[in-house]
Amino acid sequence: MAQETRTFQAEVSRLLDIVAHSLYSQKEIFLRELISNASDACDRLRYQAITKPELIADDPELAVTLTPDKTANTLTVADNGIGMSHDELIENLGTIAQSGTANFVKSLSGDSKKDMALIGQFGVGFYSAFMVAKRVEVVSKKAGESEAWRWSSDGKGEFTIEPAEQAVRGTTITLYLNDDEKDFLEDYRIQQVVKTYSDHIALPIRLVIGGKTNTINAASALWMRPKSEITPEQYKKFYQDAGHQYDEPWLTIHAKAEGTLEYTFLLFVPSTKPFDLFDVDRKSKVKLYVRRVYITDDAPGLIPPYLRFLKGVVDSEDLPLNISREMLQNNPMLARMKTQLTKRVVSELAKKAKDEPESYATFWEALGVVLKEGIYEDFENRELLLPLVRFRSTAVDRFTSLDDYVSRMKPGQDAIYFITGDKLDVLRKSPQLEGFRAKGVEVMLLTDPVDEFWLPSLGDYQKHEFRSVTRGAPELDKIETPEKKADEEKKDEPKTDISSLIALLKLTLGDAVRDVRVSERLTESAVCLVADKEDMDLHMERLLRQHNRVTGDTKRILEVNPKHKLIARLAVLAGKDGAADDLEDMAWLLFDQARLLEGEALPDPAAFATRMSAALEKGLG
Ligand code: ADP
Repeated sequence: MAQETRTFQAEVSRLLDIVAHSLYSQKEIFLRELISNASDACDRLRYQAITKPELIADDPELAVTLTPDKTANTLTVADNGIGMSHDELIENLGTIAQSGTANFVKSLSGDSKKDMALIGQFGVGFYSAFMVAKRVEVVSKKAGESEAWRWSSDGKGEFTIEPAEQAVRGTTITLYLNDDEKDFLEDYRIQQVVKTYSDHIALPIRLVIGGKTNTINAASALWMRPKSEITPEQYKKFYQDAGHQYDEPWLTIHAKAEGTLEYTFLLFVPSTKPFDLFDVDRKSKVKLYVRRVYITDDAPGLIPPYLRFLKGVVDSEDLPLNISREMLQNNPMLARMKTQLTKRVVSELAKKAKDEPESYATFWEALGVVLKEGIYEDFENRELLLPLVRFRSTAVDRFTSLDDYVSRMKPGQDAIYFITGDKLDVLRKSPQLEGFRAKGVEVMLLTDPVDEFWLPSLGDYQKHEFRSVTRGAPELDKIETPEKKADEEKKDEPKTDISSLIALLKLTLGDAVRDVRVSERLTESAVCLVADKEDMDLHMERLLRQHNRVTGDTKRILEVNPKHKLIARLAVLAGKDGAADDLEDMAWLLFDQARLLEGEALPDPAAFATRMSAALEKGLG
């Protein structure tokens, strides 16, 4: 077969362009990425060789070999792992497989500095080679196949692929270094990078200098070493390398389970939110090993979905080595490990929440949204998860907890009140909160879509029902506060009778609303919308509509504030003859105003504008 020329997928070209022109200060990470790929390739071969020992028989000692050549200005990273076929080379080194990464690249701004900082957060794997090399050549022979292939590119839109000579299986990557990157040909520099980033790699990394070969890493699985011998720095490097992370681990849990099941685990909670956390095809990032042999990145059911931010490894002593994915699926040992690991992680989180509340708040800010899924997904651990929940509220400026909320409840208050919406600052200004604020009753402010699920699934907390302030009647008069007395005294004051206004509003708005009533929750605004007790809450419906999950419009209740000056004036007008005609426009304006306050789109903006102009004109009158 002759040479073929192919073009990179658009996203790859984009990525390569950014990578090649970056002034990224840590270019050395290209080596860690290539070594990590090489090590993965060896791991995968070792796993396949469990059922097909012939794949590995001729060359059983897996290793990564680094060869600098100062004459040719090349650095070669070679492995005798699984290798890649012709099609795999094209697929793996010409496209971006994970949709999450591809979408991420699509969203890059074009400002190379900003983009590189973002890319720095998730790593670019193989493509990082182009940070230091003007040309990259990959020769690979897949284990068990007879042909080898050469992939070659200068990273500028195209690559070529052609048959090659390579006697042994595995992949050899040759980097033709840029003139100012010759540093990476020096053995001290290579050793330093390997020590820094790849020391824990469980297979030997060899450096060939002047015909002599030295192993330059510790070459033992870090998680098997005693905790006392591992420095925080080593944990961090392991997390960054094995987890392809660029941040610091927020929490490190390293332990050995001994009992009916024996396994070691080294798990990390990241300190930043992984960019692909909500990708539907995102896989678990916890690697499963069996007696130091890598099995899979994606053991089904080892980690519950709501802990999918975890990184690290679990190494079992009991599972059979030749376990297949299908067998893993219903494996009772795996299920028990999941139960134990989950409990352990949750209890470590609880410890952090108690001992280091401020640090815990940063974790919650980044990842709490995922943890909340556990409340409706993991019934068994619900009681452990609930105290971990943090949220904003009208009472305090920081994150607070359900227990704290309950401790602040007012005498006579039986429910926990909440409001859901998209943005915190908008929520804080919601008219529906006014009455609660006036009475000093705290309201939880919730802005994650998942809040629409975990709260209803829970129903109550410590026997206090969760109640939305935008739905049903608030029953605020039951709550005793010092202000209540003052209120009662005020009751003797003559109040505007707004019953004819309400009747008139009902008549005019007709079917557009479910009801019009006097508001108990408004103190400042003239009007607001609320959902009927049995109906879907306002924000929930908006969310579902955005996702085309509901089409109809639930009719809402328009609440009117009798204490508001405008309403009082309208009430007087409503009592007069012929009021219906005069006030028709006003009725619609009030209703539209309430919809706008909710962030709803107006069904007839033109009519709104006409009425508004007419009203303004009258005002200038
Ligand atoms: P990632 O490692 O995150 O998947 P890369 O861009 O680094 O992304 O690599 C893409 C794919 O190319 C890998 O998933 C792997 O299948 C393949 N690959 C890269 N390097 C090697 C190698 N040395 N041996 C075998 N396959 C490799």
